[in-house]
Amino acid sequence: MTALLEVDNLAKHFPVRRGVLQRVRGQVKAVDGVSFTLAAGETLAVVGESGCGKSTLGRLVLRLIEPTAGSVRWKGQDIFALAPGPLRALRREMQIVFQDPYASLNPRLTVGEMVGEPLMLHGLARGRAAEARVVELLHLVGLAPEHARRYPHEFSGGQRQRIGIARALAAGPQLLVGDEPVSALDVSIRAQVVNLLQDIQQRLGLAYLFVSHDLGVVRHVADRVAVMYLGRIVELAPKPALYAAPRHPYTAALLAAIPVADPRLKRDRPILEGDVPSPMAPPPGCRFHTRCPYAIDRCRVESPALTADAAGHAVACHRWQELAPLPSAVAETVA
Ligand code: SF4
Ligand code: MG
Repeated sequence: MTALLEVDNLAKHFPVRRGVLQRVRGQVKAVDGVSFTLAAGETLAVVGESGCGKSTLGRLVLRLIEPTAGSVRWKGQDIFALAPGPLRALRREMQIVFQDPYASLNPRLTVGEMVGEPLMLHGLARGRAAEARVVELLHLVGLAPEHARRYPHEFSGGQRQRIGIARALAAGPQLLVGDEPVSALDVSIRAQVVNLLQDIQQRLGLAYLFVSHDLGVVRHVADRVAVMYLGRIVELAPKPALYAAPRHPYTAALLAAIPVADPRLKRDRPILEGDVPSPMAPPPGCRFHTRCPYAIDRCRVESPALTADAAGHAVACHRWQELAPLPSAVAETVA
């Protein structure tokens, strides 16, 4: 597979202003040196607790915000070097589905107007052709033609997310970035929307960058998983390897925190304790050392590099080899 998207050493630092004079008091290193690739048709999930930088990463990839450093190449082109014209063309190929379907839909537009808007914006279809395309798109996400005349408030959360997806697909993208696209939905609806996203991916051959805090959801959608902690990727691996044999203590702890269906299964695995440190002052050395049960002196001073093996399983931990296999929830629940 050739890479559609190449992210290299990407960083985004936000200045933090305080007081009446709004002086810069520091920086939040939301994304701090992130690299990965994404192939056509592939799903890479980016997982981590809130504040780890995963949403910022999703916005950088679409150039909704400008980076502090690093590059994003789309089909070999540096997107941050693009002029407005080519950038508009690129926006057609990369679309985003937001977490909150309520907030992301304009209440004054009908569903048909909303889904049809990208068609006009990108000059893809007009008039009757646009109407027909809207009906096609609604059908693709499991909605009926008559839904085009209704307004967002007439729909349930799951249906609104379907509308958001139809709108994102209208431009004919090759990459869909989902920023927690199912997190705001009821558990019963979540599986339906996840299935829909997978179905659409198979039909259209889309690549997904799927941002989520939930390794339970990601398990159903990802080909590969990147785990982020305080602005950095700490582990990146093909899904089966990551779930069956996590190498980073943080990944193991996240996996252990997935609710297990069977209450008889014992929970003697390490559950993550304490809060994520402030991204304004990330701990020195390994950023995870303040919460890591395996931290040693070296971890407090030396930052571990993200290093991959031949199978593409990458981890940033000084001790992963001696700690393997780490206890995690998944081995037990699958057995
Ligand atoms: Fe824990 Fe040290 Fe590995 Fe960081 S480098 S995850 S502190 S063992
Ligand atoms: Mg977020």
